[in-house]
Amino acid sequence: MKTVIDSGFADLSHMNFDVSDEQRFVLDEVDRACRELRPLEDEAYLSGKFNDRLAPIFRKAQLLGLPISRRYGEGQGADVLTYALALERIGQEGTGVRTFLSGHVSLGQVTVQKWASEEQKQRYLPPATRGEKVMCFGLTEPTAGSDPASLRTTFEEKGNNFILNGSKAWISNGSIANVAVIFAYPKGKREGMCAFIVEKNFEGYSSQQQKHKLGMPTSDTGSIFLDNCKVPRENLMGPAGKGLSIAYSGLMSGRLSVAAGCLGVIEDCINEAVAFSKQRIQHGKPIAKHQLVQRHIGEMSTNLEAAKNIVYKAALLKQKSDSDPEDKDLRDYADVMIAKAKYFASNASFDAADRAVQILGSSGYSFETRAPRHLVDTRVCRIYEGTDEIMVQKIAVSLLGTEYEAYR
Ligand SMILES: Cc1cc2nc3c(=O)[nH]c(=O)nc-3n(C[C@H](O)[C@H](O)[C@H](O)COP(=O)(O)OP(=O)(O)OC[C@H]3O[C@@H](n4cnc5c(N)ncnc54)[C@H](O)[C@@H]3O)c2cc1C
Repeated sequence: MKTVIDSGFADLSHMNFDVSDEQRFVLDEVDRACRELRPLEDEAYLSGKFNDRLAPIFRKAQLLGLPISRRYGEGQGADVLTYALALERIGQEGTGVRTFLSGHVSLGQVTVQKWASEEQKQRYLPPATRGEKVMCFGLTEPTAGSDPASLRTTFEEKGNNFILNGSKAWISNGSIANVAVIFAYPKGKREGMCAFIVEKNFEGYSSQQQKHKLGMPTSDTGSIFLDNCKVPRENLMGPAGKGLSIAYSGLMSGRLSVAAGCLGVIEDCINEAVAFSKQRIQHGKPIAKHQLVQRHIGEMSTNLEAAKNIVYKAALLKQKSDSDPEDKDLRDYADVMIAKAKYFASNASFDAADRAVQILGSSGYSFETRAPRHLVDTRVCRIYEGTDEIMVQKIAVSLLGTEYEAYR
């Protein structure tokens, strides 16, 4: 593992954050879709319901397969940075909206694109890019969260099928997904984890929506139950025994999507706080003229710039690593940069939402404003796809060396 502190300008030679004409075109489409979505998301959020208008609106804007190759259905072949910029804009609409895409695209489709056989890609990616089939990524279990290697779901071979038994918990899109990437160990073993593409209509598969969540009412989160679930042999994905590597590669893509979405959350909080502070009068002047209010805005804005730089850098490193998969040092470096991006951006977004609520005062205590929704919704970004603690330890170990790993 590369254990250097950032080597400065040498690393920046390929860092170009200028938005190209192609990226501008994509971002204009994303912006149009987000504007169409906002009133519908408002309505769904206030009535506490899953927003089922998301997929059709995002499909119209060709966002459901944005980073997927044009060979598959409505894949758009966007590079990693372009996709991250799109997720940043989508993040303004809420963490729930962005989480739908993280589950369906970043964790689901991107993992299939990287690891599945050509035949599997042809079968599963086109309907996913068209939104006809929703995808999810089933790694977490009731007793296996930060330690996915301890998962208990098992498989055994029977004739032309694998028989899966176990359950998955807290899966984004879990109760609405038609296709799940599922991780399991061979029965009776604690090594040789495998990944499977499992369809909702396979015998022995069922799911249930998670209720009473802290936030993200418009995003589906669910449990998946595999009760002697019959998975055809051809649905084993990637090399047998490489399930944990497949899971970790999916998490790299998922974590980056979380980090990018958090940028949008900060932007939306700043927009609302700035607008409110100019029109709210207290002590005879707009509260924007009170220096302690300005401090909140200054902090949010500075954190946004810092977060953008680290997220874009992580995206470019992932892009470089994806195009040179044999370079293990580069992959490790990208992996740690993504952990830094997720850790920093998710904390910055939570802080921005908290400051925006403070500026809004009692108005910020009503879900009719945007800041409190961000406050409860973005909290999950410090938990899912690797908690703050796991991210920080990963970052520290990249400097200390693997012999200092806090856990195995
Ligand atoms: C809304 C939502 C959506 C989700 N979507 C998905 C999904 O699509 N797919 C999926 O597979 N999972 C998903 N998850 C699960 C998520 O990834 C896990 O919740 C997360 O990895 C943490 O696992 P845990 O909740 O079991 O907490 P635990 O692992 O039990 O951790 C509890 C606490 O202990 C700390 N801790 C644990 N181990 C260590 C350690 N070694 N050192 C220091 N501290 C430690 C943690 O940081 C945390 O603070 C989702 C979760 C939520 C809430």
